[in-house]
Amino acid sequence: MSEATPAPTPLLQLESVAKVYRFARQSLFAPRRELVAVDGVSFSLPQGKTFGLVGESGSGKSTVGKLILRLERPDSGVVRFDNRDIFAQDAAQLRRYRAQVQLVLQDPYGALSPRMRIGGIVTEPMRAQGMSREEAYEQAGEMLQLVGLDPEVMRRHPHQFSGGQRQRIAIARALGVKPRLVLLDEAVSALDVSVRAQILLLLKSLQKRLGVSFVFIGHDLASVRFMSDEVGVMYFGRIVEIGPAARVLGAPRHPYTRHLVETARGDIPLSSRSQPTELPDPFSLPSGCRFRNRCPLATAECATQEPALRPVGHRHDAACHHVEAETVDTLAPPHALAPQKT
Ligand code: ADP
Ligand code: MG
Repeated sequence: MSEATPAPTPLLQLESVAKVYRFARQSLFAPRRELVAVDGVSFSLPQGKTFGLVGESGSGKSTVGKLILRLERPDSGVVRFDNRDIFAQDAAQLRRYRAQVQLVLQDPYGALSPRMRIGGIVTEPMRAQGMSREEAYEQAGEMLQLVGLDPEVMRRHPHQFSGGQRQRIAIARALGVKPRLVLLDEAVSALDVSVRAQILLLLKSLQKRLGVSFVFIGHDLASVRFMSDEVGVMYFGRIVEIGPAARVLGAPRHPYTRHLVETARGDIPLSSRSQPTELPDPFSLPSGCRFRNRCPLATAECATQEPALRPVGHRHDAACHHVEAETVDTLAPPHALAPQKT
């Protein structure tokens, strides 16, 4: 990166996005219960890159995905794609948006209708975009080849394939409409380790070839680290640490990220040695820092002040009162640092 290179315009940008689920009263006089599934999430994703979201189950990752796909509406905040608010689009813009953003889920068997043939499954999004049958089938053949399958598989049914092959089919289906963004929500989580590695390598090579951007959601740290340029670590709706994947997951600063990394390594996390590790009730999170009841560093300040994200390294932020910035030179402006990996 030369000194004067400006940051690329992000393809996707989330700004303080929040989503609250409201539940019916449990009795006439009881208050309405509210669950803040996503609580002020911000990140941006440049074209051709991957943003990873990690966190335990229930931390709000899939809800962020649904907001990006417009399957849910935010209560506040903005989601921009190509600099445009995706919730302020007219019907034609929305149609175009739907083609540019595709989804791959964890269980392709569930997502792929068992009665349909692979040809119908892979061509469906293209047909929905108004492509002719012939053109869609031709394109489907190319996409299947791209993911390492013989186009002949189009005549067969999903149950005739292994988990890894079904995930390849799901990826071919998502890529058929030439999307600019693919949301991968636990897309490799159901696969055996060796098959998972193959699919991750496939996704990487497809990204290089097609320039597509990914939002990669998962709870497996190794997969998220391998896939992502930047990651956000979510805890009960908040991003508590964000930055380059190798820094955040390789040298984590937030006690929660450390807890995840230690657990993934098979260590007994520091946070569980002296503290109870029960997850709080999402309907009544602790005051101040929501991680404090599991945190080995918690002090009185943590009970009263909610920590905001602040810089702890180069383009690396953490929301913790007890994490200090590393050294002055890691916070130097981008042009003073080595070129970014591309
Ligand atoms: P993750 O993908 O990280 O496991 P989710 O985004 O699925 O987390 O869920 C975040 C929180 O929001 C959870 O407490 C979940 O129970 C709740 N939630 C998700 N979807 C809904 C919904 N449609 N209605 C009510 N609550 C929901
Ligand atoms: Mg999820």
